Amino acid sequence: LEFLTQQCHLSTEVAQRMMIESDLRQALARGELTVAYQPLFTITSGRLRGFDALARWHHLERGTIEPATFIQIAEESGLIIELTDFVLQQACTQMAQWHAIDPALADLKLQVNLSGSDLAHSALSERIEHALASSHFNPRLLTLELTENILMKRIDSAMATLETLRKLGVSLAIDDFGTGYSSLAYLSSLPIDSLKIDRSFVHGMRRVGSKDAEIVRAIVSLGATLGKSVVAEGIESVSQLAQLRELGCEHGQGFHLSRPLTPQQAEALLECLLTELHEPQAQAAFDTGLMPLVRH
Ligand code: C2E
Ligand code: MG
Repeated sequence: LEFLTQQCHLSTEVAQRMMIESDLRQALARGELTVAYQPLFTITSGRLRGFDALARWHHLERGTIEPATFIQIAEESGLIIELTDFVLQQACTQMAQWHAIDPALADLKLQVNLSGSDLAHSALSERIEHALASSHFNPRLLTLELTENILMKRIDSAMATLETLRKLGVSLAIDDFGTGYSSLAYLSSLPIDSLKIDRSFVHGMRRVGSKDAEIVRAIVSLGATLGKSVVAEGIESVSQLAQLRELGCEHGQGFHLSRPLTPQQAEALLECLLTELHEPQAQAAFDTGLMPLVRH
């Protein structure tokens, strides 16, 4: 009976996956996929530096489906190429509109995730070039993120691809840094601009001197040595933020600073920043704090 129950669970799981895969195929056409924008701040100055673009799927019948579920299915089914193109196109177009609102917003950066299949795709460079050109987006403001695992798994073939991407003018970041097995020898020679410290280390940074705090310190110092900027992910508390600032971590994002926002919410944040900026009496506050912190 136990065997049968297991089989039954398995086939329900398989059926579920197949259903999600076929629904995802239609989701792009049905307009169910959107992009959320999570603000990225410069910790040292408190300034908004840009946004991470994150795919969102609101299924018409099933409600919200988590990226952790659908990104993996998209990877396995090959749909990820179309998904990446959608996110890239959508986010570049949106950001170009925000850049045009006010010169003070014109250098906001955009970070987009690439998958392993993207890295192996022969037309990757053309796809990115197309997204940039059709949205009139400045390549210097785009950062493409690759997880440490994806990168190290294909390191030999990836090197040439990364060089080609860099020639487009875009920047490259290693995502979830610290969770994979980076070779330090490769790390120094990789054409990578920044390291994003995995949020598990930030989470474990309970006290100064804890193991995770020391790992964060080591990554910050590694970044400084290699000339790569460092971003902390998953900042959830005021004490984590204070510790990161003390460790000299330059950039950060996390729920404590802001959750991922809908385009409307992000636009409200930008309007708010502009008001602060153009009202002289509010200038001091803009310069010193992380302003304004958006929570819901
Ligand atoms: P990621 O690229 O590391 O993105 C950050 C994830 O951490 C996001 O989850 C974000 O909502 C979450 N996060 C941000 N701040 C905090 C925090 O303070 N605490 C905690 N616990 N979580 C925080 P999300 O949107 O569910 O995405 C999960 C992952 O799915 C992403 O991790 C990325 O690997 C993948 N993903 C999302 N959108 C895309 C996409 O368009 N393309 C590809 N290839 N992957 C994507
Ligand atoms: Mg990422």
